Amino acid sequence: MHLTLHLEQVLVTAGGRITCQRCTAQSKRTKLQCGIAALKGKTKCGFHGGRSTGPKTPEGRVRCAQAKTIHGNDTRADRAEHSKKMAEIRDLEALGFQIGLLSGSRFAGRKPKSRG
Ligand SMILES: [Zn+2]
Repeated sequence: MHLTLHLEQVLVTAGGRITCQRCTAQSKRTKLQCGIAALKGKTKCGFHGGRSTGPKTPEGRVRCAQAKTIHGNDTRADRAEHSKKMAEIRDLEALGFQIGLLSGSRFAGRKPKSRG
């Protein structure tokens, strides 16, 4: 395993006249960051998946969804549970403000999507 590679986000080319997004892929051969400019609006060049638009077929999408179920230590079930609990806390907070128990600033962050 490679240690975290410092990634240059911008590439200056044409004698400093052009500044653009640099491909953030790591070369398999040199183990260095790819030196090509990334595609417009992307973080990768055409060689490193910049042209990919993701899985299109239903089977491919299912495979991708299964493969990405775990990111870090939480699961989708964990996140759903967390979201639900946060919604409950929000409701309690709203109630607290309503009856004058709470005052001041509200919780930070966006409102949870899932309710109940
Ligand atoms: Zn590249």
